[in-house]
Amino acid sequence: MTTVTAAEAAYVVAALLFILSLAGLSQHRTSRSGVVWGIAGMIIALAATVGLASRSITATGLVLIAVATALGAGIGLWRARVVEMTGMPELIAIMHSFVGLAAAFVGWNGYLDVDAELTGSLLGIHHAEVFIGVFIGAVTFTGSVVAYLKLSARIDSRPLTLPGKHILNVSALAAFVVLTVAFVARPGMGLLIAVTLIALALGAHLVASIGGGDMPVVVSMLNSYSGWAAAASGFLLANNLLIVTGALVGSSGAYLSYIMCKAMNRSFLSVIAGGFGTPAADDDGEQGEHREIDAEETAQLLRDASSVIIAPGYGMAVAQAQYPVAELARKLRERGVEVRFGIHPVAGRLPGHMNVLLAEANVPYDIVLEMDEINDDFAATSVVLVIGANDTVNPAAIDNPASPIAGMPVLHVWEAAHVVVFKRSMAVGYAGVQNPLFFRENTQMLFGDARQRVEDILRGLDALDAPVPEMAGTSR
Ligand code: NDP
Repeated sequence: MTTVTAAEAAYVVAALLFILSLAGLSQHRTSRSGVVWGIAGMIIALAATVGLASRSITATGLVLIAVATALGAGIGLWRARVVEMTGMPELIAIMHSFVGLAAAFVGWNGYLDVDAELTGSLLGIHHAEVFIGVFIGAVTFTGSVVAYLKLSARIDSRPLTLPGKHILNVSALAAFVVLTVAFVARPGMGLLIAVTLIALALGAHLVASIGGGDMPVVVSMLNSYSGWAAAASGFLLANNLLIVTGALVGSSGAYLSYIMCKAMNRSFLSVIAGGFGTPAADDDGEQGEHREIDAEETAQLLRDASSVIIAPGYGMAVAQAQYPVAELARKLRERGVEVRFGIHPVAGRLPGHMNVLLAEANVPYDIVLEMDEINDDFAATSVVLVIGANDTVNPAAIDNPASPIAGMPVLHVWEAAHVVVFKRSMAVGYAGVQNPLFFRENTQMLFGDARQRVEDILRGLDALDAPVPEMAGTSR
């Protein structure tokens, strides 16, 4: 067997392992094995690629590849070990930016180092691959960097609304098409520089124009772009595995974006065109008086409740409150209170974020319900505890057509008899929109860190259970 056929056979095995990995990652229970399949596939892919390249690379080149691989793997392992669960989305976003940057570099390299054997229409195809690869890579790069800055709160999550933003996007796409034709006909560095700059600006503008509430779709969409960028590099490098893997990531990311759009009642095309998230004039306005409650009063309310729904959000992840929350649910259930969790599809900062946290704290799966399964039950519920959720329980999504989150399905928590909202201040949620829920008659705010407040409630419940000490002088 020649090196080439051995490498191609290894690529087929790696591709199958990547497919198994995707299948495993689609369910909580099998996700660990999904990760293991993915790691195995990547090790085989790297070994086969280096083996293939070793035929034409000097010993110094191989040493440099080994050093680069060790450095990259070291940094990757370190970041993965230290990253907080709440920091995962921005880590994913910055990784997408690396894929985009790599694809743009591969494209440039393809322009600067053309295979002398390519002539005629094959050369034309090569130049089209260069141009398209650079374009997709550069859009992915800056789009992901802006997503990283938004997700890590280094820049405002509100949408940038330049005048004529759609015309700008469409003009950039039209320029790309015209320049591609020109480049294939007469390749030149000036055209490649022009498309690189246009793509860098377009990527940044597309993501900057999208509001915080729509960021879940952006993350999965950039995932998809990074896949197509890798596939474009695969064509340029004539690497079949990169083409297959890129197409897998690109298509699964596109499908995930579609699912997220459906869950959030958004049009896929509008989100990728940066069409949502225009701030309403009165977004930040105060909406009346809010009422406060303390932990002891909340404990009393819960003791008298017959049914409780807990709606967790990003703040529960920040406070790491899932453990005392699980303990609270257990205690209330022991007292015969019906306790369930209502999970919004985009609560937190990752798909499935809340489910992972609750599973970590051993909350039974059967009391954790999706939004569609529980939304009709709020009206018959005594108390709802909103723990660090904001956008996902905002009635403005239903009541205010001018709101940036208008049309997004939300948990109908306000229909319950009592709502207690755990948060540290009256600050807005990730979408930057004020929440009228906080000012409703049946809502009370419990301020402070969610973990500390839930622990205070647990102590409050214990105190209510404790036998009342006898008054001095009443005993004989
Ligand atoms: P939000 O991000 O809207 O709000 C979180 C709330 O938690 C804030 O109001 C904050 O208020 C409060 N909070 C933060 N820290 C604490 C703490 N230590 N203790 C108590 N409260 C705290 O949360 P949701 O989960 O409701 O909504 C998720 C948002 O993120 C949506 O807009 C969604 O579109 C977006 N998003 C989701 C992604 C996903 O895939 N799930 C990905 C990217 C974005 P305060 O500061 O006053 O305490």
